[in-house]
Amino acid sequence: MTEEPAARPAARPTAKAVKVVRRPELSFFEKLYVPQILSGLRITTAHFFRNLFIHIAHRLGRLRHLRAGVTFQYPEEQRPLMSRYRSRHRLTVREDGTPRCVGCMLCETVCPAKCITIVPGEHPDPGVEKYPVRFDIDLGVCVFCGYCVEVCPEDAIRMDTGILDLSAYSREAMRLDMHELMNPALKKPLGACSLDFPHACALDEGRLRGSWATPR
Ligand code: SF4
Ligand code: SF4
Repeated sequence: MTEEPAARPAARPTAKAVKVVRRPELSFFEKLYVPQILSGLRITTAHFFRNLFIHIAHRLGRLRHLRAGVTFQYPEEQRPLMSRYRSRHRLTVREDGTPRCVGCMLCETVCPAKCITIVPGEHPDPGVEKYPVRFDIDLGVCVFCGYCVEVCPEDAIRMDTGILDLSAYSREAMRLDMHELMNPALKKPLGACSLDFPHACALDEGRLRGSWATPR
């Protein structure tokens, strides 16, 4: 009979492994807060006059190499977005108008927020294995990590719509279904179903009903 090896004692953190960072004590003047407020005002004022000076110089055709701060009058005026910016999702479509998605469920599996719901179905074309009968994304839960886009083998989902105004009056309105994902111009309340391929449409007289229920 062999003897069980003695259990190793749990490793204790050494003095080097733990770094204690003490919060610095505020000085008397810092506790007054007024000097800090004045310091902030000084920085803001310096930025204001710097921008004002550079903008006037630009008008006079000078100092073109210097950049000045610009205020965008959002929402009337939208700031240009970088090409890699993650905005609202969309599902890309084939030439025949059907989704490129093959219902592989990779995006639903990888989603850390568990906000994607896909119900795959058999595609009528034998060359395509599956397609999404339903595809929902709950934007109220999404953390915009972009994993769903990264993992997709078919380039079927993208976050390049440039749509930033995602607010809604209800949680239900934050849940995008296939209609809105395939046509980002659509917004709830949706009209008649615009999809002419077999899918589980939950539109009923313009109202989306049972969007998370089992498809018919
Ligand atoms: S962006 Fe991230 S959290 Fe949002 S649906 Fe995609 S994987 Fe999920
Ligand atoms: S990873 Fe792409 S192909 Fe797979 S279910 Fe998601 S969107 Fe469809």
